Amino acid sequence: MTSTQPRPPSGHPAPVGPARASGADGPRPARVGILTSGGDSQGMNAAVRAVVRTTLTLGGEAFAVHEGWAGAVAGGAQIRQLGWDDVAGVLHRGGTVLGTARCAEFRDRAGRRAAAGNLVRRGIDRLVVIGGDGSLRGAEELRREWPTLLDELVASGEVSGHDRLSHPRLRVAGLVGSIDNDMAGTEMTIGADSALHRICAALDGLRSTAASHQRTFVVEVMGRHCGYLALMAAVAGGADAALVPEAPPAEGWQDLLVRRLQASRAAGLRDLIVIVAEGAVDRLGRPVRSADVGTLLTERLGGEGSRVTVLGHVQRGGRPSAYDRWMPTLLGHAAAQEVLGDGDLPAVVVGVRSNRVTLTPLPEAVRAVDAVREAAEKGDFDVARAARGRSFATLSASLEDLCTPPGLLGAVGEERPTAATALVGGASTGGQGPGGGDGAQPVPRARRVGVLHAGGPAPGMNAVVRALVRSAAVGGTRVVGVVGSVPALVSGPVRELGWAEVDDWIDLPGAELGSRRTVLRAEDAGRVAATVAEHRLDALVLVGGIEAYRSAAVLDAAAAQHPALRLPTVCLPAAIDNNLPGTDLSVGADTALNTVVEALDRLRSSASAARRCFVVETMGGPCGYLPMMAGMAAGAERVYLPEDRITIHRLARDAGQMTEAFAGDRTQWLAIRGDQSSASYTADVLARIFEQEGGDLFDVRQTVLGHVQQGGVPTPFDRLLATRLAQVALAEVDRRLAAGQSGACLVGEVGGRPTVTPIDRLEVELDDRADRPRRQWWLELRTVHERVGGRAARA
Ligand code: ADP
Repeated sequence: MTSTQPRPPSGHPAPVGPARASGADGPRPARVGILTSGGDSQGMNAAVRAVVRTTLTLGGEAFAVHEGWAGAVAGGAQIRQLGWDDVAGVLHRGGTVLGTARCAEFRDRAGRRAAAGNLVRRGIDRLVVIGGDGSLRGAEELRREWPTLLDELVASGEVSGHDRLSHPRLRVAGLVGSIDNDMAGTEMTIGADSALHRICAALDGLRSTAASHQRTFVVEVMGRHCGYLALMAAVAGGADAALVPEAPPAEGWQDLLVRRLQASRAAGLRDLIVIVAEGAVDRLGRPVRSADVGTLLTERLGGEGSRVTVLGHVQRGGRPSAYDRWMPTLLGHAAAQEVLGDGDLPAVVVGVRSNRVTLTPLPEAVRAVDAVREAAEKGDFDVARAARGRSFATLSASLEDLCTPPGLLGAVGEERPTAATALVGGASTGGQGPGGGDGAQPVPRARRVGVLHAGGPAPGMNAVVRALVRSAAVGGTRVVGVVGSVPALVSGPVRELGWAEVDDWIDLPGAELGSRRTVLRAEDAGRVAATVAEHRLDALVLVGGIEAYRSAAVLDAAAAQHPALRLPTVCLPAAIDNNLPGTDLSVGADTALNTVVEALDRLRSSASAARRCFVVETMGGPCGYLPMMAGMAAGAERVYLPEDRITIHRLARDAGQMTEAFAGDRTQWLAIRGDQSSASYTADVLARIFEQEGGDLFDVRQTVLGHVQQGGVPTPFDRLLATRLAQVALAEVDRRLAAGQSGACLVGEVGGRPTVTPIDRLEVELDDRADRPRRQWWLELRTVHERVGGRAARA
């Protein structure tokens, strides 16, 4: 995720007609080789599946190159043609079904010459390589040398002149598979999100045992050069300090760490967690090892001492998260399209930025990675940190605020963490989030910000409140919880939230402050004004779904009549349906998606011995995000969305294709239906139609997933989003208070950037026929799904 200047994909033009390579004896299907190389990571299989199926859909032929570059060098049975069903049932599996290896021979020209010969003799002159920066460097070498390698092979008689003429160039696309998230050309590498899932699960477990014994845990996470996992895990895992390679702590950090942890304990924390990246160093470049940190804390903290846990390879293992299934699917689809194009394009890294595909020339991406490593080696850590991208910079700053206990400020004579004293290095945001405090005038008393939830419960709501309380505390602002949603805004109760009290809210399911699907009535605005005045609230943050947004609009409209309501009111999106305007994603949607995908994995495995069609209904209301993304991530054959019309004609066609598939080798068919996709064609109706059409060929089961989708422990992504959005909300509160500006607004993230939308845009940005945004970025993914998952029986 090192920064470069990527370009968007070339409009993803679908080749007209089948993808062909022109040979001396006329056009024949283009052949695409796929390999996974270097360290494995979760999600590689989703990429392989998407490359194979997109290639087939577009008329090409797909070949697996097993065991990475070693398979290319060995040739023979290591290169094998793949059909549509060869990559069925792989989405949920960790690691790589193609196998991977390190291959010393490929580093030499002789090895690459052998590989070129093996590929060209099979007619393969297009490659999609999935691996880390080493594997992609190898791909670029091979591409550059291809013409001269083939000349040598023709001269030695190992390759025919005909083959040489038919395959004048190698087209290469690289996908970055690496849990470290350390590569340029993509914001997220394949596997990083799943690794974060593993780490956060471990931290959640450690936190409870640490609290029981008042112990300190030092946890080492992977990342030799890149502190991405360590930093994100520290924020998402509610750690109390982190040591990462890009932000070496200043001289004397040991004292600072001890004082900080002592102050945290004094503030009431029973469990303390320090994250150490595998490659952490101090300012002089000396390694900071987890074992040494453990010894330091045992000696200096007293109590029950500290325990060191090295997470190791479990971080690479396990099922891929939902993101590590749909994102690599998107990238694999784009990569196949790219290599199936014509012309002499440079090799590209197919990456992702804000959920959109980007292409970066491979040499440029490799140079960017080298530049970051050199900067870090030279001690230029600002460059190294900036290169990690916006989210890294924002979160390294906010971690300082999140884990600075109130007693530390003043008690040890420290004003607040600064770049010089901070453990994770980044400049502090001042507790008011990005952009906060610009021109802010001091206020005579501590500010008080009220927070409440409205709408259906969304996992991560508690994490929002935790981030608000913690970040606000550094700037002296108090956060007051309105306990009981909108009705409590009318008549209480309302109470101040403590710094230590919210500590374990990072992974707490549900909404501790309560949430109801109630919209404030205009006639109650006067009583809300009384609540605001009584509790001296300077601003309100409404966290939740459309009910929160509409309540804010009611308050905004009532402000003319009730002066107490002339205060900044900020809405923060938290809804599993992801149906809110002003943001690409809402807090809770990723958790719900993972819950659905996990349930679908279980369903599929329950029927491993049967021929079965599942009709599964998800939540999502008027918005198809949840069924669509679950369909992508779980490999559903069909998704029925509220955005599309279900017709009898469509159902007849689907039933026909399903029957045809089961008449072949198919053993499962998964159809996902959003709960508001059609008033008439319910899950029951769909299941009956399919059952009737299928006869004895297969049976049909329907499952309504229901409220499990609103529960569960928030995913790392939702915890991080919750934290970032809380900071954006605080910054906006701060800016408005400083400017003397009241009124309501919506905060969010669009295209990876924080956004603030005035409340009067709310109804404009909503589709007037349904409560969902007019523009939904993910709808574009329907084509990808149709090509990769949606096809019926294929050869
Ligand atoms: P990763 O791809 O995960 O970074 P490695 O750096 O070990 O893992 O690279 C995997 C394989 O890619 C190596 O074993 C080698 O075959 C090939 N490779 C790596 N670097 C180069 C290079 N500079 N030139 C040619 N091949 C390379």
